[in-house]
Amino acid sequence: MLVVFLSVTHAATLWAQSAETVLVNGKIATLDRQSSVGQALAVRDGRIVAVGSAADIRRLTGPNTRVIDVGGRTVIPGLIDSHMHAIRAALSYATEVSWIGARSIPEAMARIREAAGDKPGAWLIVAGGWTEHQFKEARRPTQADLIAAAPDRLVYIQMMYGAALLTPAGFKALDISSDADVPPRGKIERDAGGNPTGWISGDMPTITALFSRLPTPTFEQKVDGTRRFFRELNRLALTGVIDPGGANLTPADYLPLFKVWQDRALTLRVVYSMFAQRRGAELEDFKNLVQLLPMGFGDDSLRFNGIGESVTAGMYNNDNPSEADTAQFYEVVKWAAERRMTVTVHWNNDRTVGHLLDVFERVNREMPIGPLRWSIAHLNDASVPTLQRMKTLGIGWTMQDALFFNGEQVQQLVGVDAGRRMPPIKSAMRMGIPIGAGTDAHRVMSYNPFAALKWLLDGKTIAGAAVRGPEETPTREEALRLYTLGSAWFAHDDDTRGSLTVGKLADLAVLSRDYLTVPVDEVGDIESLLTMVGGRIVYASGPFKEPS
Ligand SMILES: [Zn+2]
Repeated sequence: MLVVFLSVTHAATLWAQSAETVLVNGKIATLDRQSSVGQALAVRDGRIVAVGSAADIRRLTGPNTRVIDVGGRTVIPGLIDSHMHAIRAALSYATEVSWIGARSIPEAMARIREAAGDKPGAWLIVAGGWTEHQFKEARRPTQADLIAAAPDRLVYIQMMYGAALLTPAGFKALDISSDADVPPRGKIERDAGGNPTGWISGDMPTITALFSRLPTPTFEQKVDGTRRFFRELNRLALTGVIDPGGANLTPADYLPLFKVWQDRALTLRVVYSMFAQRRGAELEDFKNLVQLLPMGFGDDSLRFNGIGESVTAGMYNNDNPSEADTAQFYEVVKWAAERRMTVTVHWNNDRTVGHLLDVFERVNREMPIGPLRWSIAHLNDASVPTLQRMKTLGIGWTMQDALFFNGEQVQQLVGVDAGRRMPPIKSAMRMGIPIGAGTDAHRVMSYNPFAALKWLLDGKTIAGAAVRGPEETPTREEALRLYTLGSAWFAHDDDTRGSLTVGKLADLAVLSRDYLTVPVDEVGDIESLLTMVGGRIVYASGPFKEPS
């Protein structure tokens, strides 16, 4: 009896030592220090227990191990977008129409027509994420296009944060018949004959206020949208996002995300910061909201990461802050520093970023902010002196592919030479500044990381215009590192994810094409065929799809 007992125990120990899952026959880009490429990888308890040759991994294969032959394909660490408004995008994913990837106006209109059939009577909303440069016609759609696609329907098409196109029925439903009915600074566009074109133009607050007049999805639709949007991101090899809040996003809007987390159904790791709420009451709001939410609270799938990208309304998208604006901003970020919180701040122009850096430097003199991993988002024209100040402070830079959509306009504005160094990716890398890649989706950009990776590698806009020069262009591996380890730094997770090394979380993607060798022009078409988060398959297609 004793002998049997011992042998069973011994066998159980052996099985416990074998892997739950192994990937074999792969080209595994580990992104370790030596840039090693493995053939096989083993996973146990959600973590990587070995990477190496086929023979190394075979020793870890037991009778209960799931063996996945990846057929010679490239495996990368799961991608992490360091600045995506994913929580907000998810809320409406189940009820919105997306124009991401549509290459012509008829293709975009076909998506409207299709959605119109599905949802009789409902608003048809495209909430951004597209540019006219993606259409071969190189123009914005017209109201006539919309009426032809969805006669008599309520349609709202938002173009970034600058304009929106509505059908006549949409105007009627929102009670808009003159400029007075449009949120402040907004205007009904008119043609040469004085007739409304269907477009409303304005600035970010105008368009944000206009959007908030639209009906919102139900709670169930928001939960459904969250699950579906995160699967969509898994399809594109994403296993994590760092979410900077956003306009039109209130504390109650986090409840659908929390529900999916409680159901243990998150397929994407979400690290989120809190966006300023009421103008003038930012500090009071933050204090109330975080009383039971200390920095870092949460787990590996959902975690609180401080404040931003709007910290105060007075220092958000404001190139000319008053002394009162900077003083108020100082109070909030000093409070954040005292609570060891991470801060991320949206800033667009190098010309005025000194306002922000002055405050950061003041706080840093009182308590070092380097360990808190603060960051600046955007700043596509960062100068070397600015980067030097960031380096001295120990803060990072979340960098997005905004120029993929608006590179032509930026080039016209700043000139060809200045455009060649936007954004100054290699300069910042050489200086050792932490850089996270990302998109800023989904209002102003597509969420597709492979479109962003292609742009990282060729500096070309969606319409094909070359803007950034080779002197600021990373190699393929460097670009991939920005999208993995680079982004993980901003979540304080570079020791737990971002590369495929022993002990790290098993977040990875098996790609449809070899990112490392496929022609650069084709990088944007890559997808994942198999995505794992913590060793769990969250997306599988093609050869990996389970027969149903
Ligand atoms: Zn921003």
